[in-house]
Amino acid sequence: MSSRPPPFFRPAHAPGPDHTLLVSEPILGADEKAALARVIDSSSITMGDGVRAFEHAFAEAHGLEDGVAVNSCTAGLHLAIEALGIGSGDEVLVPSLSFVATANAVIYAGATPVFVDVESLQAPVISCEDAARRVSPATKAVIVMHYAGYVVDAAAWRRFADAHGLLLIEDSAHAVGAARGNIFGDAAVFSFFGNKNMTTGEGGMVLSHDPALLRHIRQARGHGMTTSTLGRLAGQAMYDVTMLGYNYRMTELNAALGLVQLAKLRLRNAKRRRLSMAYRRLLASTCPAVTMPFVESQRSSHHILPVLLPPQADRAQVIAALCSEGIQTSIHYPPVHTLTWYRARNPFTHLPITEEFAARELTLPLHPKMEDWQVGSVTQALARALGPNHSGETA
Ligand SMILES: *Cc1c(COP(=O)(O)O)cnc(C)c1O
Repeated sequence: MSSRPPPFFRPAHAPGPDHTLLVSEPILGADEKAALARVIDSSSITMGDGVRAFEHAFAEAHGLEDGVAVNSCTAGLHLAIEALGIGSGDEVLVPSLSFVATANAVIYAGATPVFVDVESLQAPVISCEDAARRVSPATKAVIVMHYAGYVVDAAAWRRFADAHGLLLIEDSAHAVGAARGNIFGDAAVFSFFGNKNMTTGEGGMVLSHDPALLRHIRQARGHGMTTSTLGRLAGQAMYDVTMLGYNYRMTELNAALGLVQLAKLRLRNAKRRRLSMAYRRLLASTCPAVTMPFVESQRSSHHILPVLLPPQADRAQVIAALCSEGIQTSIHYPPVHTLTWYRARNPFTHLPITEEFAARELTLPLHPKMEDWQVGSVTQALARALGPNHSGETA
């Protein structure tokens, strides 16, 4: 009857049944199929001209000359941290309100993540003030994360890093296409996972203003070898290994998807922006007790749509009510310092604003496949789920 795979075979980011509105959904079609077919018909399946073209095109779209494509943002963060010379004995300031990969990458490099609280419930990004309180003689770097796609204050963070003599890394997994000409970190790392603003299935990219850093990262990506796949094809048979490297390479198939998706990014981010503005307007009128963080004028790729439920609301019940109306929701994020493995390492870390935000946060559907009217359906369903007391309407 149906060509749909059984539910247990369906990854969280895959298109759901027709009646379910998903939190995020990749958009892949005929152009992506044709691009993949061209790679399959070619003799070059990994690390060829397509990967190089994707690196240049993605860097150019963000106002830079070059980047290094990798097989995930996590791999890119790991390479960037190591290439910047951060390792054993070093502390790295990180937001706890992030995906676990931000902190994991610090640990892969042998360094210690130090969790920092967010600015406020209205600006749930790593706080400069709290970061300053947590700087120690061992602090070597800070990783900022552009939560939901809203780009953090570049000038403030550059000043902070310079004042404390720290390296500055951007976890830009949410900010694909947001930071055109505005990369301010020593390195910025992007994700092309299936639920991000553009996807290559799995994939990531490191951008930097520093060509020497990119050269180092490019070598470490391929086992630390002194010749590349393309170089060996051109007859450089002998190679040496001059650093500890990894296999973090991107395939030509991923890069082909990336080139197609990148060409569509601007229009799709514009659609995200329009939907996000509609949410802001409709939430204010339909559910005034629910707040949307950040301000509309702030630069953003509108990656996700986080809202803050009223303090008394029963979030589990709201999630169940929306689910019964065919609306998927999500939570971004359980704070990293509260996850079992990290809690055991940092039993005394307490970040009050992060913890309150994460306890009240709910992520509503936002992706360019959505129709504008669906924003109205979601906000009305949310008002019903909250009931007359919490939606702000009088009974
Ligand atoms: C998705 C994500 C990552 C990890 O990206 P991968 O490409 O899946 O490795 C890292 N940080 C943040 C904030 C993310 O959202």
